[in-house]
Amino acid sequence: MTIARVEPLTTARALRGPFDYRVPPRLSDEVDVGSILRVPFGPRRILGVVVEVAGASELPPERLAEPVEALESGAPPELVQLGLWVAREYCSTPSRGLALVLPPGTGAAGQRVKSRTELRVSITSAGADALESGGRLGARQRLVLEALGDGELGMGELATSGGDLATVRRLERRGLVATHSTRVRRGPAAPAISAGGERPRLNPDQETAVARIAAALDGEEDASRRLLLHGVTGSGKTEVYLAAVERALAQGRGAIVLVPEIGLTPQAVARFRARLGDRIALLHSDLTPGERYDEWRRLRDGEASVCVGPRSAVFAPVGDLGLIVIDEEHDSAYKGEGDPAYDARTVARERAERCGAVLVCGTATPRPESWISLSRSELPRRADGGGMPAVRIVDMREADRRGGPVHPVTLAALDRVASEGKRAIVLINRRGFAPWLTCRSCGHHYGCPNCDVSLITHRHSGNLVCHHCAHSEPLPGSCGECGSVTLSRAGAGTEQIESLLAARLAPLPVLRLDTDTAATRGAHGRILAAFADAPRGAVLVGTQMVGKGHDFPDVTLSAILDADATLRFPDFRAEERTFAMVTQLAGRSGRGNAGDVVVQTLAPSAPSIAHAARHDAQGFLAGEIERRRELGYPPFSHLIRVNLSSEEAGRLDETAAMVGRRLREGAPGETDILGPAPMFRVRGRHRRRVLIKTGRRADAVAAVGAMVERLASERGLKDVAIGVDVDPQ
Ligand code: ADP
Ligand code: ZN
Ligand code: ZN
Repeated sequence: MTIARVEPLTTARALRGPFDYRVPPRLSDEVDVGSILRVPFGPRRILGVVVEVAGASELPPERLAEPVEALESGAPPELVQLGLWVAREYCSTPSRGLALVLPPGTGAAGQRVKSRTELRVSITSAGADALESGGRLGARQRLVLEALGDGELGMGELATSGGDLATVRRLERRGLVATHSTRVRRGPAAPAISAGGERPRLNPDQETAVARIAAALDGEEDASRRLLLHGVTGSGKTEVYLAAVERALAQGRGAIVLVPEIGLTPQAVARFRARLGDRIALLHSDLTPGERYDEWRRLRDGEASVCVGPRSAVFAPVGDLGLIVIDEEHDSAYKGEGDPAYDARTVARERAERCGAVLVCGTATPRPESWISLSRSELPRRADGGGMPAVRIVDMREADRRGGPVHPVTLAALDRVASEGKRAIVLINRRGFAPWLTCRSCGHHYGCPNCDVSLITHRHSGNLVCHHCAHSEPLPGSCGECGSVTLSRAGAGTEQIESLLAARLAPLPVLRLDTDTAATRGAHGRILAAFADAPRGAVLVGTQMVGKGHDFPDVTLSAILDADATLRFPDFRAEERTFAMVTQLAGRSGRGNAGDVVVQTLAPSAPSIAHAARHDAQGFLAGEIERRRELGYPPFSHLIRVNLSSEEAGRLDETAAMVGRRLREGAPGETDILGPAPMFRVRGRHRRRVLIKTGRRADAVAAVGAMVERLASERGLKDVAIGVDVDPQ
């Protein structure tokens, strides 16, 4: 007897499998670890994933039900184990962990997406004879046979020449045509940005890096299997990844290349496609569900063996995985926000470990974690032989307050770009027109009714918008409290800089790139293409998106208007983030050309800004790692955050206090429990959080997981939502 142990796909924390089912002979070929089954469950039928196949059950056979059916495709066994590991590591449920590794489009309700098949039609010799000898044929039948010629056509193509299914079936019954059905691939559309497939000769630094990865792929004994590729912006890291992937392919193994957000790196993706063609599958959210499903299937069936995608691609069903590359490994997009709030970098490390793959993390601005734990390869120079751009720091504390958000020094540099017909990138890390709106007569400040934050003026849509919830209201003409028209805006966002620069630099085109302009499918690529192709130069204004991953040769200026904005977040990673943002943006300038960088800031001597201005990652990391060591922050400890929220402040406080108490009782040694501490309200929900700082990660994760499970099973949470974030960002 074959028993399938099935973990139900449900969101209820209290419902924990696996549950045993008896596999009937009719299904035995289709059931394996990773199969998705529809099973009877009490009075209902639900979906579940097979996590184990066994020969016997502890339950008597007559108590075991049989699955109703197996769905079209399931997950590879290796990934089932990884999904369950993620569930444990991030204090989530098996069902949520498994959901990460299932074919795209699988939900509790089933598989919304399936393969698309097409009927292919070809003429038989009898058909050819009939056509030639002028046999008895209807007009439509003749049309179809003629269209077929001596080739094969799909039903879609036949339809365009007037064929229809009924006629084809009639011909088939007469033996004049043969049909078979095949799966058709819904391929991702060609990207708006293209790249050539040319293969530059690697420089000696690149050669050294590739040789080290190759040694690891070849399984040489003393080769490190986890590498940090630390290369300045423009040093040619992508070429190293490509060479490494080709090496893995030559060994018959597969590879995964993670990029922060695929929409933000169309150029890198285009380069991979140009070089590796159909062996690549793309997995990202900009695909239609059908395209995603087909790309996933191509990987699982071995038709493609390299996957390029964002953090979720760490779960791509690449068989015999030899290499995982994480490009821009410093990027916080690798950390998810859902449940499980997994970090793709941690998962990649685990997956590489489990299947003996080599892990390569590349960046110009490594995280302290990677700096101290990975074996380093350096690319200290730009691949085009150019120098790093000169960085000028503009101290905004001394600037004339009436001068507006763009300093005269920056304006002068932009004027030069305009007169020379070159390109400039301007970063201001806030979207909208202005972040504060206040009445000067009565002092009324426009805040969100649901969240404890200011409403942001959006001129373009004519609304005041909350950036934390969906709230939006028309821009007022006068104060809603006192009727005065003395409304005053403060601060600046992307819209304001866009209109200010457009007015000053006309006719130079000024393009804006932020989540508002890039909201529709493909818009991001179109904006970047418009910027790259503008014949007489252009300016690109936007949020952090403008600083990421693209490579345009004649950008001669990049400017950051509010470089210390990210420093003001109360977060131990603020310095690290600011350093990365400034360095990355600076790196966009001066590729193939002399370049300039201007950094406007209120904190010119902050280590992150001063080191970024000198392109000195090593110096920055030395100081930052020392600071972390003194404060006992990661990587010298691990953090776990328990987030609680409720519409009811009273209930929330009680629950948060209880959670804090239980965590203190259950904590392992070397662990501090901080809080509960209040956080600002979002979407009408009050929030509290408890922070766990520990030297014993596994024990602390287990303790927190047990605490949450106990709360769920006691049903003690009532109106309070709880979430666990391991390694919060
Ligand atoms: P990074 O990812 O390190 O920022 P890229 O891989 O985007 O750098 O490379 C920057 C530019 O240098 C690209 O235009 C790339 O084609 C070019 N390049 C890379 N390696 C070489 C090389 N060995 N010789 C000449 N050009 C190169
Ligand atoms: Zn007022
Ligand atoms: Zn809000």
